Amino acid sequence: MICRKCQKIESVYHRVYSGEYLCKKCFMRSIENKTAKTISRYSMIGYGDRVVVGVSGGKDSLSLLYVLKMLFDQHPNNGNELVGITIDEGIKGYRDESLQIVKDFCQQLGVESKVLSYKSLFEVDMDEAMVLRPSEKMSSCSMCGTLRRRAIDIAAETLDADVVATAHNVDDQLQTFMINMLAGDVERIGWIYPEPVKYASGMKKVKPFIEIYEYEIAFYALQREIPFQSEECPYMNESIRTDLREFLNKLERDHPGIKHSAYNSMMKISRVLRSRQSTEGKKCSICRHDSTGDICSVCQTINVLTSNKQI
Ligand code: SF4
Ligand code: ZN
Repeated sequence: MICRKCQKIESVYHRVYSGEYLCKKCFMRSIENKTAKTISRYSMIGYGDRVVVGVSGGKDSLSLLYVLKMLFDQHPNNGNELVGITIDEGIKGYRDESLQIVKDFCQQLGVESKVLSYKSLFEVDMDEAMVLRPSEKMSSCSMCGTLRRRAIDIAAETLDADVVATAHNVDDQLQTFMINMLAGDVERIGWIYPEPVKYASGMKKVKPFIEIYEYEIAFYALQREIPFQSEECPYMNESIRTDLREFLNKLERDHPGIKHSAYNSMMKISRVLRSRQSTEGKKCSICRHDSTGDICSVCQTINVLTSNKQI
């Protein structure tokens, strides 16, 4: 099949849900253009913004770093700066490979990079947290996700960021939506809406890949020959997210485009819920970070873990 876009080169990718056949160049361009459009539609990044990207070493975050660097280089007069931040969770045998990959890739792109660990910030790492948690009901990924969000916030403050960008994609957001639905945590669905949340500090959080399928980002990383981590986290399978990922992928295989329509429905619900939320003025009574309740989820998690440490 010849590429439907350029009508010249043999296609390498069939976008089943839209019927498009794309050559390597047109496929890569489609991902980069889509990212640029999402950034502009939701006003994610402004002139002169210093953007900190959470880079785990996986295909999504390294691809995001690459695309942002490329877009910034195309518009040097916009005066944007880019910094990669990697959070070391303290998971033996897992994080070391990715730290090296991120370091090398940032060097190759000419992007500043920093590493921050849970241990230095919270005095506990993930391997210890798995022992200290009171029960398996406190899942590895929910603890880890809570600590990572805070670690990235702290890094962003330290690095004087205007914007924090993460590589969440359509699949991540659909999984989060379903987790919140299944847990009865409906209010959290409002946080999925991609309009940037502006925190009291003035910093924005954005997700430029939010309209792209996970497997398209993986294919992009392969086409661009972006090196990414192969090792999987040993605590990954505890999360319901893994089951939902497989379930949604099966649905998409059987009914191409279903993730896309589910994404649109999720956005409508999320938008309504977001319009009822406010972040302004609320601070955690312990750490003074922005919080939706009196005590933020990070302080609640740390309290549970440290109380078990003392016993
Ligand atoms: Fe943390 Fe879960 Fe990711 Fe492992 S898979 S690094 S526990 S969020
Ligand atoms: Zn707190």
